[in-house]
Amino acid sequence: MPALAFARAVVLLALALALPAAGAGKSVLLLQQDDDAWLSYQAFYAGFQGALAREYGADVMIYREVLDLSRFPGAPYRDALRRWYTVKYQAIRVDAIVAVGPAALTFALSARRDIWPGVPTVFAGGDRETLAIAERGAATGRMLQFETPKSIALARTLFPRTRNLAIVGDRDLTQTFFPTFDESLDRLAGELRVIDLRGLAMATLLERVAALPPDTIVHCTIFSLDGDGQRFVPRDALARIAAASNAPIFGDIDSYMGTGAVGGQMSSTRAFGAAIANHLAPVLHGALPAEPPPGGTNSWSTPVVDWRAIRRFGVDPARLPAGIEIRYREPSVWEEHRPALLGVAAAFLVLLGLVIRLLRERRQRIVAEQEASARFTELARANRISAAGELAASVVHDLGQPLAAIQSNVESMELLLEADPPRLEEARAALADVRRDDQRAADVIGRLRSLFHKSEPRRERVFVESVVNDVTRMAEGVARRKGVTVEADLDPAPMVVDADVVQLQQVLINLLLNALDAIPDGTGHRRVAIVARHATGGVIRVAVGDSGPGIPDDERARIFEPFYTTKSKGTGVGLAIVKRIVESYGTQVAVGVSPLGGAEFSFVLPSAEAAP
Ligand code: ADP
Repeated sequence: MPALAFARAVVLLALALALPAAGAGKSVLLLQQDDDAWLSYQAFYAGFQGALAREYGADVMIYREVLDLSRFPGAPYRDALRRWYTVKYQAIRVDAIVAVGPAALTFALSARRDIWPGVPTVFAGGDRETLAIAERGAATGRMLQFETPKSIALARTLFPRTRNLAIVGDRDLTQTFFPTFDESLDRLAGELRVIDLRGLAMATLLERVAALPPDTIVHCTIFSLDGDGQRFVPRDALARIAAASNAPIFGDIDSYMGTGAVGGQMSSTRAFGAAIANHLAPVLHGALPAEPPPGGTNSWSTPVVDWRAIRRFGVDPARLPAGIEIRYREPSVWEEHRPALLGVAAAFLVLLGLVIRLLRERRQRIVAEQEASARFTELARANRISAAGELAASVVHDLGQPLAAIQSNVESMELLLEADPPRLEEARAALADVRRDDQRAADVIGRLRSLFHKSEPRRERVFVESVVNDVTRMAEGVARRKGVTVEADLDPAPMVVDADVVQLQQVLINLLLNALDAIPDGTGHRRVAIVARHATGGVIRVAVGDSGPGIPDDERARIFEPFYTTKSKGTGVGLAIVKRIVESYGTQVAVGVSPLGGAEFSFVLPSAEAAP
C-alpha cells in the first residue's frame, strides 16, 4: 500500500526532525533485567544515572527499559519485546546499550542484531555466559562479585559457636548475579554442616527456619521463586524469612539491610551502577573502556550489620570487627538531645544551687530565731531569778545575822533565868541584845521594802506599739514551737506614754510568757493577743489575753504574791514584778477573762499626749 508507506515515511521524518540533531547529545539505552520492585535495581539506576550526569550533564539521555525477564521468561515475550522496541526506537539514535543482568545481556545482543547493529554494548554483572560473551568481544562491562565467603566469615565471628550453615534462596542461580555459588558451596561451608533449604515452598521454608537447630547461621543468596513456582521480590521474601527465623540471617546484597537480616559483606548496587557509568564514559566517546579490563570484577562491598538484629540475637558488641558499618543504631537519648539535656542539667544545677542557698538561709534564720527565743526565755527567767535571788540573798544574809544572834541570846537567857538564884541582870542585858537584833531584822525588812519602792523608773516618751511589736517579735520563736499564734491588735492612732521602756518590756514579757505557759498542749484554739488601745480618760489600755484555762476567782489575789506558783519549774515572782512595776506608775493590774477564753491581764497608763 504505497499511500500508507508514504504516510509512515512522513511521520517518521517529522519525528526525526523534532529530535535534536545527531551528535548534539548522547543517548544510552539501559535494559534492566528485573522489575524496579527489586531495590537493588533502583539503587543501581540511581548510582548509574548520578555518575553519568556528573560526566555529561544534560548532554546524555537515558532510555530505560524494564524487561522483567525473570517473571516473563518465555521466548514469545522476548520476540514481542524486540518487535516493540523496533517500532519504539526507530527514530532514536542509540549510542550505547547497557544491559543490567545476564538475561538482559542475552536479550540485548539479539536485539542489537535486529535493531541497533554495531552499537557498543556494556554489561553490568552476569553469569558464566556473560564472561564468554565478553571474551568474544561482543560486549564489555563489569562483573559484580558477591563476597559470600566474607559474609559467612563475619557471621562466624559474631556467632563463634556456629556449627550449621542453612542456605536459603533460588534453586537455580543461573542467569543471576550468583554464577558460581553452587560450586563454591562446599568451600564456603568448610567444616560447617550445610542445611539446604532451597527449592522449598515459602510456607514450608518459614516453618523450617523457625525450627533450625541451635548454633545455625542462615545465608540467603537471592529469593525470587519458591518451590511452588511462586514469584517473590527478593527483599520482601527475605523480610518474611527473617521474621520467622530463629537463627541469624546473613546475605551479600546491600538492599537486604533493614529486612531483619543481621548483615554481611554487603555489595552496594548503587556503587556498582556508578562504576558501570564510569566504564561507559569512554565507550560513548568511541574509545575502549579504561581499566579495569572488560569482565573485571569487583564487589563494591563493605561489612555491615543491623544494630537491632545484633541486639535481638544478643551478640557481644565487642565481637564487631573494627571499621564495620553499623546501621539502625538508635542514638541514645543523650546522643540525640545532648544540647537540650545539657541545658536542662545546667538549669537543674542552677535551681539546685538556689535551693541549697535558700535552705541554708532558712536554716540560718531558724538557728537565729532559736537563739533569739532562747535569749528571750533566758531574759524573762533571769529577770525572775535575779529578782528572786535578790530577795532571797538579802533575806538570808541580812536577816540571818540578827536571827542567829536572837536565837543565841534567847538560849542564854533561858540558862540565866533557870539559875538559882536567877541571874536577872545578865538576862536583862541579853534581852536588850534581843531587842537590838530584832530592830536590825526590822531594818533589813524595811530596807528590802524600800528597795522595791526605790526602783525609780526612768521616764521617757515611749511608743507602746513599738514595745508591743518588739516583745511580740522576741516571743515569735517560743510561740511557734508551742504552736501558738501571737496577735498584736494595736490602735491605729499613735500611743505614747511616759515610761521606762525596759520596765514596760519586762511587764509585757512576763505576761506574754505566762500566757504562752497557760495554753495546754494539744489542739484547739492556741492564741495569745496583745491589745493596746486608747481608752476613755486619756489612758492607754494594754491587755494580754490567752486561750488558756483562765484563773479561778479565788486565786486572783494570790497569784500576785511573791513565790506563788502552780508550775513545777515556776518561781512565782513574775506577776509580783509586774504588779510592782505597774503600781509604780500609780495604776493597777487587772485580771479578767479574755475574749479568747482564757485569762486577761490588763493595765492602763496615762497617754502622754493627753497629759498636760
Ligand atoms: P510563775 O509563772 O513562775 O509561776 P508568776 O508570778 O508569773 O510565776 O505566776 C504565778 C501563777 O499565776 C502561775 O503559776 C499560774 O498559776 C498563774 N498564772 C499566771 N498567768 C496566768 C495565765 N495567763 N493563765 C492562767 N494562770 C496564770
